[in-house]
Amino acid sequence: MTDQRLIGLDFGGMSIKGGAVDASTGEVLARGMRPFAPDVPAEEIFSRAAALVLELEAAAGGPPQRIGLGCAGLFERSTGTVLASANMPNLVGESLSVGVGRGLGGREVVVENDANVAAFGEQWLGAGRDEDSMALLTLGTGVGGGIVLMDELFVGPGGNAGEIGHTVIFPRPSGSPYDGPFHEELVCPCGSYGCLERLVSASAAKRRARTAGLSDDLPTLAQAARDGDGPERRLLHEIGRDLGSGLSTLVTLFDIQFFVIGGGFGGALDVLRPGAEELLNEQRYGSGASRIVPATLGSDAGWIGAARLSLSSH
Ligand SMILES: [Zn+2]
Repeated sequence: MTDQRLIGLDFGGMSIKGGAVDASTGEVLARGMRPFAPDVPAEEIFSRAAALVLELEAAAGGPPQRIGLGCAGLFERSTGTVLASANMPNLVGESLSVGVGRGLGGREVVVENDANVAAFGEQWLGAGRDEDSMALLTLGTGVGGGIVLMDELFVGPGGNAGEIGHTVIFPRPSGSPYDGPFHEELVCPCGSYGCLERLVSASAAKRRARTAGLSDDLPTLAQAARDGDGPERRLLHEIGRDLGSGLSTLVTLFDIQFFVIGGGFGGALDVLRPGAEELLNEQRYGSGASRIVPATLGSDAGWIGAARLSLSSH
């Protein structure tokens, strides 16, 4: 029955989280964590991850053949080598598959982007469990995104699909009479301009609140928007419309109608939703009513999705 025990890991900014889950029932059998910091050498990260897997196996009763692993950054698909990772600089150039697998008797370790595995987790056991297609957007420092189509994680031919945060929703001025002014704050680290994450991430919301002369404490801002029809509600309505603009792209391209919103700023979804729905209603292409719901797995989504991924032929 060991093939029923799936194990997933999630390399986050401050910790390595992991857990074991029963493949057929979705029951969480064990959870664990190891501390992590950007300056920890790669070998130490790998040995902590392998130790966590062994601990989870002992708790869950039996080693699975493959381990799933989610990590922020860009990877070379075939080798699991990290090409770029802002919060784990010591892992760049390292193969996560080889490094973690080394401490596990060479077992196969399947690597995937952290937002993608979180989407896969939410669709399996979280907010999207009754849907076969959905997109997850996490509103944090940036905007992470993952797309599940017909119960399959959609990563595209090169593995980098689903970067919803970097869809452009605000055009770069070019001198055309239709242009608006150039906004320095809409320049995105990805090299583009006017990306969704420059407008609706937690960082963007704080910046927009300060610009509007409002509190940049997001829970305070959201509460003020709930309490009255003032400038806070207007700002969150506007940010909600920008979020809706990003979602409308997914409706048009993929016919996705179910959206799960996570991340710290996702806690303001109740006050973002009216703006998002308003825009989706204006731009609806095709039929069907979109639904926008909060993520439910919290920080478990990543390792749960990674565990599920270990089952697939990915
Ligand atoms: Zn971008």
